[in-house]
Amino acid sequence: MNQKNTAGPKAKAWVARDERVISSSYTRSYPAVIVRGRGLKTWDADGREYLDFSAGIAVVATGHCHPRVVRAIQKQAAELIHMSGTDFYYPSQIRLAEKLSEIFPGKEKAKIFYGNSGTEAIEAGMKLARWKTRRPRYLAFTSAFHGRTFGSLSLTNSKAVQREGFGPLLPQVDHAPFAYCYRCPLNLKYPSCKIACADYIEDEIFRTRVPAEEVAAIVVEPIQGEGGYVVPPPEWLVKIKKIAEKHGMLLIADEVQSGMGRTGKMFAVEHFKVNPDMIALAKGIASGMPLGVLLARASLMTWPPGAHASTFGGNPVSSEAALVTIELIEKQLMQNAREQGKYFIRELKKLQKEFEVIGDVRGLGLMIGVELVKDRETKERAPELRSAIVEACFEKGLLILGCGPNTLRLCPPLTAARKDIDRALGILRAAFKQKTEQPKGPTANGKTPRRSVRHQKTV
Ligand code: PLP
Repeated sequence: MNQKNTAGPKAKAWVARDERVISSSYTRSYPAVIVRGRGLKTWDADGREYLDFSAGIAVVATGHCHPRVVRAIQKQAAELIHMSGTDFYYPSQIRLAEKLSEIFPGKEKAKIFYGNSGTEAIEAGMKLARWKTRRPRYLAFTSAFHGRTFGSLSLTNSKAVQREGFGPLLPQVDHAPFAYCYRCPLNLKYPSCKIACADYIEDEIFRTRVPAEEVAAIVVEPIQGEGGYVVPPPEWLVKIKKIAEKHGMLLIADEVQSGMGRTGKMFAVEHFKVNPDMIALAKGIASGMPLGVLLARASLMTWPPGAHASTFGGNPVSSEAALVTIELIEKQLMQNAREQGKYFIRELKKLQKEFEVIGDVRGLGLMIGVELVKDRETKERAPELRSAIVEACFEKGLLILGCGPNTLRLCPPLTAARKDIDRALGILRAAFKQKTEQPKGPTANGKTPRRSVRHQKTV
């Protein structure tokens, strides 16, 4: 896998064809044209091998084409591919709902609504919250990402380009500061701040512009995903839950990215010992088969027939893939994510000692962010360097993605073994070396080399 890889001839040809027919709105960082995947390995159209630490945007929790998932899909596809849970009954959907209800955190069991994606799960939560409370407003957080359909986009607050040209969005959605301690929105320091960013909701937002009794729900990512893999301090979500309860609002946890064992627990909220009223799931739940799920306390999901539905939601093949995925996560992958995540973070912190440009290493389980800066003191963001590292990793055979403006997102399948992490660390170290260090002394062309980025103020 010691390859110097931009894109081979076949990959180049596919990219050219893609450009002619596929929407220009997608955000490809490099020309990876993937045709096959097994476990953590993927191969491109030219037969080049890559170690996948993106998991198809945190989706293939059990690795690519886990044999048990493949068997479950094949078996179900041979029996029944579609019937629509909107108008008919079928066992896979019911068995999966029973399982999800059982693992829903809290005393009350959940009822389940099925869609096909994260954004649909969020839309369902937004609608159910309005329907149940008869209140119009929502509260979300700065840098949040909840999806791209109009309801969820109104909560999304991550990058301006995601909203530009699409307004007007849902009115009466407000954003409170997320507990991003590395860049405290209130310029305070944890723990002496006493989680002032949560108090800000009542002290400022509810006092000055948002009548609390009009808010149907607070929608929150327990660990922020697209916004930069930001882990809030432990007390923060507890405070948010208390605020919601005090004012009769529902708490919707968006676990589309942080759920399904990725953080070392089935749901990230469990790290904070908070029981939300609803949980939105997608991505990792069915190992790559499309499925979005809203879990809500059973006493909330009382809307009448016809109030909400989705033709494809919870189709039998996705439901069977999800049942096997959950079994594998419960039996071993959750624990693996916890153990390997601890090791990965420890080693990344060592890398941070080597490279000044690594401003912050954070994460839980295998949901890890590495934030890059031009200067550790000023914390000036290094978005160009981030992109350069992502590309250099691709050239060296490692697939990773960015998140936020300047953070590397490390979210391998939960099957990642120590040897995979060591291999990824080796490639990351080589990429950092290549992109931040220049050879010492005069170069072959006799010119003085540029100063190392590690020591530069700007990249
Ligand atoms: N919520 C979170 C936290 C996400 O990370 C995403 C996607 O990245 C979504 C919602 C939207 O999911 P989808 O792209 O499946 O609609």
